[in-house]
Amino acid sequence: MNQFVKVTLNKGREGSVLRRHPWIFSGAVKNVEGNPADGQTVEVFTPDRQWLARGSYSSKSQIRVRLLSYDLDEHIDEQFFENKIARAIELRKSIQGSELSDASRLIFGESDGLPGVIADRYGDYIVCQFLSTGAEYWKKTISGQLMAQTGCKGIYERSDTDSRTKEGLLPEVGVLDGQKPPELIEIHEKGQKFLVDVYTGHKTGFYLDQKLNREVIMKYCEGKEVLNAFSYTGGFGISASIAGAKHMTNIDSSKESLELAERNFILNGAELQKVEFVQADVFNLLRSYRDARRQFDVIILDPPKFVASASQLAGGTRGYKDINLLAFKLLRPGGILVTFSCSSYVKPDLFQKIVSDAALDANREAAILEFLFQGPDHPVGLNFPESLYLKGLVCRSV
Ligand code: SAH
Repeated sequence: MNQFVKVTLNKGREGSVLRRHPWIFSGAVKNVEGNPADGQTVEVFTPDRQWLARGSYSSKSQIRVRLLSYDLDEHIDEQFFENKIARAIELRKSIQGSELSDASRLIFGESDGLPGVIADRYGDYIVCQFLSTGAEYWKKTISGQLMAQTGCKGIYERSDTDSRTKEGLLPEVGVLDGQKPPELIEIHEKGQKFLVDVYTGHKTGFYLDQKLNREVIMKYCEGKEVLNAFSYTGGFGISASIAGAKHMTNIDSSKESLELAERNFILNGAELQKVEFVQADVFNLLRSYRDARRQFDVIILDPPKFVASASQLAGGTRGYKDINLLAFKLLRPGGILVTFSCSSYVKPDLFQKIVSDAALDANREAAILEFLFQGPDHPVGLNFPESLYLKGLVCRSV
């Protein structure tokens, strides 16, 4: 133990640490001794000098310490990261059907005991994000371990998210180890293929969190007219099309995403005369479809995060309600709405209420057939409920 870098908590603030919640907020900190550098490991104590845990220090973030270990004998060194990464990879291998896909999330931050670290595998390459000072501090160790333990060809960094600013870190992108990935990586998911742009795509390039849900929607799509709103590079649309959809409409505001979506449909042998790509604002387009009395059998709504902070909750809730209300109006009798929210601030019960209010205002009766979540390669830490962010409902309207 390095007794010289020490964070002492205020009286009565040890509860969350004892429950192994990995965040210590600045308000819980009484004092800091030893002038730790950002990312350096600090020892956490109660005011009466009881050792509690150790973790990475961040001088600028509201989250002052991200905890790594609650075991006095466990040191934060190369071995620590080797063990945690091995455990994370093992967990993914244990997921049934994982061998049928060559893309998955290998490390999901706090849920894998590695705060701020994201690692997504796309075929022979891994794309990482280092979102906290501790993750940044151990970056080389982590990428070296990922390289050694997976045998991948290269590791690319996409630490270009806003959350790094809160930690006082600048964006960083580029090759961390091994070879540079190709411009587009082709990944395989149970017979489906997707081209992933790891350089400029969203997050690390693709929505791996929807993998199981892409499979779920297939059973509703055969012979159906499907609307895929917020389509990005095709994801749900391709699954729907492979499942035998009669017609697919993909809507996204991004021209580049739709262009890649079209390539993905071609790659999967879709008949393009059955597929439409519309560059538009979903809110406006759904309104114009409503006015034109256009109808669909299946509607998928997978919008971006409308609520990124507690202060955006009211506005975001209105956004979710609006699109769901419009979707209910566009559904044929017996139609299926598959609706998602990826905002962790919108809890499952609130989301259900929003969708229920939307149905009510649309004057439609509906029942929930399935509750959906992020896939198991994005596990939810029992000690870290904040890691549950993606939830979805499959509703059937009468
Ligand atoms: N369903 C996708 C992921 C959707 S991400 C998948 O599974 O791969 C959200 C998408 O919504 C992005 O592609 C973004 O370009 C698009 N988007 C954001 N706001 C929009 C708006 N108001 N209208 C249309 N598209 C929008």
